[in-house]
Amino acid sequence: GRATPPLAALSQVLRLERSRRTGIVFPLQKLERYLAPGTDTARFRLFQPGLAALQRAEALFRSDRGHPIDYVSSAVRMDHAPPPALPEVCFIGRSNVGKSSLIRALFSLAPEVEVRVSKTPGHTNKMNFFKVGKYFTLVDMPGYGYRAPQDFVEIVEAYLQERCNLKRTFLLVDGVVGLQKTDHVAVDMLEEFGIPYVMVLTKIDRASRGVLLKNVLEVQEFVKENTQGCFPQLFLVSSVEFSGIHLLRCFVAHITGNLPTVEAS
Ligand code: GDP
Repeated sequence: GRATPPLAALSQVLRLERSRRTGIVFPLQKLERYLAPGTDTARFRLFQPGLAALQRAEALFRSDRGHPIDYVSSAVRMDHAPPPALPEVCFIGRSNVGKSSLIRALFSLAPEVEVRVSKTPGHTNKMNFFKVGKYFTLVDMPGYGYRAPQDFVEIVEAYLQERCNLKRTFLLVDGVVGLQKTDHVAVDMLEEFGIPYVMVLTKIDRASRGVLLKNVLEVQEFVKENTQGCFPQLFLVSSVEFSGIHLLRCFVAHITGNLPTVEAS
């Protein structure tokens, strides 16, 4: 298997000095001090787990003999999807948004898991199912936008409407370019279906602080004014620097019902 990248594990992050550590674990809060005074930041802290919860979540994402994390199967149609036996989360976003990189980062403590990169022919237009022990399943959905509108409609819509064990959908938005027209199409669809979702801003290491702040505020404002089903707190991630990955693991553990002591939000 692959070696564990730096900062993939909390134990590595805890060795950093405080400000750097906050930036990796709570990247949204790190931005707070650059906001205009009076900016409403209550929404930045709705999900703010402590160390124990972060550690418990990490244990779920770390495979061992008694706790296998496996790629299960790919499906192009709902009747090929594995039985809806466990709580499930899915990840959707435009092609190139950083979806496979994010899923690889989430599973970096289970190096035997193979996350197919989107360029792999034949895997761009499929749903890829991963099983995390006996706790939950995670689905990598086909990328939408350029070249894949038809797959998106046929596969993603059917999945979102029919999957009874789906607990939350993670909608990825590129942190460098912000919300695009195709992202709005996805939001409209999620809103129409009335299913709960979360927005995740990707590649934050690549955006300058100014650009990142602008995109964060824009998305937060958009969510506040135009959505019903979206969790009010935006998640920020870098799959390269592992910022936001630990928090996202914890949120996934929480919404799949695997963190009993964290207050429901
Ligand atoms: P997908 O098509 O959504 O699965 O996107 P990929 O995960 O393949 O990423 C698309 C491109 O963005 C690749 O060149 C990645 O190396 C790059 N990328 C993805 N995530 C990050 C990130 O967090 N930081 C940086 N700097 N680059 C990223």
